[in-house]
Amino acid sequence: APVAPTLSWQHSFAALGESFYVPLGATPLPAPYWVGHNAALGTELGLPADWSQSESWLQALTGNTTLPGSQPLASVYSGHQFGNWAGQLGDGRAILLGEAKGLEWQLKGAGLTPFSRMGDGRAVLRSSVREFLCSEAMHGLGIPSTRALCVTGSDAPVRRETLETAAVVTRLAPSFIRFGHFEHFCHTDQHGELKRLADYVIDRFYPACRSAADGDSNPYVALLAAVTERTAQMVAHWQAVGFCHGVMNTDNMSILGLTIDYGPFQFLDGFQPGHICNHSDHQGRYAFNKQPNVAYWNLYCLGQALLPLIEEQEQAIAALETFKTHFPQALGQRFGAKLGLQAGQMAPQELVDTLLQLLASEAVDYTIFWRRLSHWTHAQSAEDASVRDLFVDRAAIDAWLLAYGSLHALAERPQASRRMLAANPKFVLRNHLGELAIRAARQKDFSVLAQLQSVLQAPFDEHPEHQSFADFAPDWAAGIEISCSS
Ligand code: AMP
Ligand code: MG
Ligand code: MG
Repeated sequence: APVAPTLSWQHSFAALGESFYVPLGATPLPAPYWVGHNAALGTELGLPADWSQSESWLQALTGNTTLPGSQPLASVYSGHQFGNWAGQLGDGRAILLGEAKGLEWQLKGAGLTPFSRMGDGRAVLRSSVREFLCSEAMHGLGIPSTRALCVTGSDAPVRRETLETAAVVTRLAPSFIRFGHFEHFCHTDQHGELKRLADYVIDRFYPACRSAADGDSNPYVALLAAVTERTAQMVAHWQAVGFCHGVMNTDNMSILGLTIDYGPFQFLDGFQPGHICNHSDHQGRYAFNKQPNVAYWNLYCLGQALLPLIEEQEQAIAALETFKTHFPQALGQRFGAKLGLQAGQMAPQELVDTLLQLLASEAVDYTIFWRRLSHWTHAQSAEDASVRDLFVDRAAIDAWLLAYGSLHALAERPQASRRMLAANPKFVLRNHLGELAIRAARQKDFSVLAQLQSVLQAPFDEHPEHQSFADFAPDWAAGIEISCSS
């Protein structure tokens, strides 16, 4: 029998007590195989060099053996889904192993739990490949995200709209606590547990909230303000890079402001502000341009859940209101970086507004536009022509470029261009790229996934050998329909 991998485990989440989880191991899957592994993350964590070749790691990270020292569990949470209170949810298919190497480890797709409701506890290959690639793509872009160590697969059938096969993603984060964990303990009137949860999050992740809370201020108000700021930062990143999450339910909102629960997400191809990426989102609640407001709405749910710990409702409202300054500031800074300004400088609002209207009116490819603009020299070069070529209305883009050109003195343009190339990625995980990796993976060819992964981990580099991953989406990309089914 393979030797079980040795890791040193801690269980601070489990120490919160039995109201927070059900102890439960993963359900084995037959004949697992490696689909993808994140060598860089393994090295960062100091895993043994051969972990991704090792049968024992394969079995353990598929959930077929219990890692010695781990204490597998499924946590309980609740949440608002598509604007409605959904009641108790919980880890329906994710098993938390505990903390090792400073991060919590979860096996997503590891089998039934008491919180599986109508589900089967499994995740299919296609959605696991998407989560694996996208969490590392986000990390490569500098956007806060849960991480992904590997994907393993099995030919065990999983029924969705059609018959598919099972996979497990090993995902890592400092914590997987969601807004919905707080909502759960508030709505079930477990206020002692609610306080324990908030204290745990403050002590581990937001210690400044306690030290700031001298005299009449309250650490839970400070927590709400801190989560508000981190969430504003995260969503500003999403809007600037053109990322649509697709299912911003409160149970998919990380208390640490990490992008979490990759489902029907999409990076925009042509810039369409009202784009809806989730085929199940009939009302367009989670359309791209609604994400900032939805984040704010979700923060209100968190504020509501924290009210039992906050004496004055006005204090909670004041903490939430800071979103209205943090978000525009964060977004202005992100666009400042995209336009080549010095770190922390805000983009001129009118310049951005005019540009986004122009991009929207012609549904110009968002990523390609910014990358070409980063190479733009204002010297009538071939690069300059390539920006203009994206537009039918040349007069409009020329007028904008004239205004934009005055942002940087001619002598500063090379430095500005360098900053822009570090702020405007050449590569994002477009839907059709994920689809190519999935199609190959279904044939047990994992090379496309590995190539995409290597490019997405360094998305600001040129990677000339993978130029096709930076191309416009092909026509068939528009036909890809991605729903909540995963
Ligand atoms: P999601 O929309 O993916 O965030 O899922 C919402 C809730 O449904 C979470 O509590 C998930 O754990 C649960 N869930 C989603 N898919 C499954 C599944 N196939 N089996 C069991 N639970 C699931
Ligand atoms: Mg979820
Ligand atoms: Mg999910």
